[in-house]
Amino acid sequence: MAHTLPALPYAINALEPHISENTLEFHHGKHHAAYVANLNKLLDGTDLDGKSLEDVITAVAGDASKAGVFNNAAQVWNHSFYWQCMKPAGGGQPPSGALAEKINADFGSFEAFVEQFKAAGATQFGSGWAWLILDGGTLKITKTANADLPLAHGQKALLTMDVWEHAYYLDYQNKRPDYMTTFLDKLVNWDFVAANLAAA
Ligand code: FE
Repeated sequence: MAHTLPALPYAINALEPHISENTLEFHHGKHHAAYVANLNKLLDGTDLDGKSLEDVITAVAGDASKAGVFNNAAQVWNHSFYWQCMKPAGGGQPPSGALAEKINADFGSFEAFVEQFKAAGATQFGSGWAWLILDGGTLKITKTANADLPLAHGQKALLTMDVWEHAYYLDYQNKRPDYMTTFLDKLVNWDFVAANLAAA
């Protein structure tokens, strides 16, 4: 069965003024859609055709001869996950409860988490992703280049922020730090992150 482009979990203008409808039309409607189309083309008729996205990713991770499949499959997964990491009127303090307690326990404070997460996004040279992951029972911040993702490293993703220029350039031009601050203050869907932690 072919992979499909998931609908955005909110209206295409719902993240304005922080992320514009114009950005989402390109980012979801063109970039994400192209990864889905490319992946289906690459898988057609192969033994990976019909496998779940996660199974495709883990099957080809680290195989240089399958880099095209890995990049497109991972970008399909990354973007589907990223849309759910945001919501209208999100951001700010994490919800109280298990997630807040875990952040305090593993980072020392919410402020320390914010600082490390922003640093990961800022220091990812070129295209990539900043992540909050669960690794061996501990929350950690990581960054990955291009399409790479925690799943390829045996880690559980809880939150991601796309730092490819296509995620922010129309709204923030070269000001990646402003996009990252807005992402954390106004957009993060902490309920989604808490649910990912609870399911881990
Ligand atoms: Fe993207």
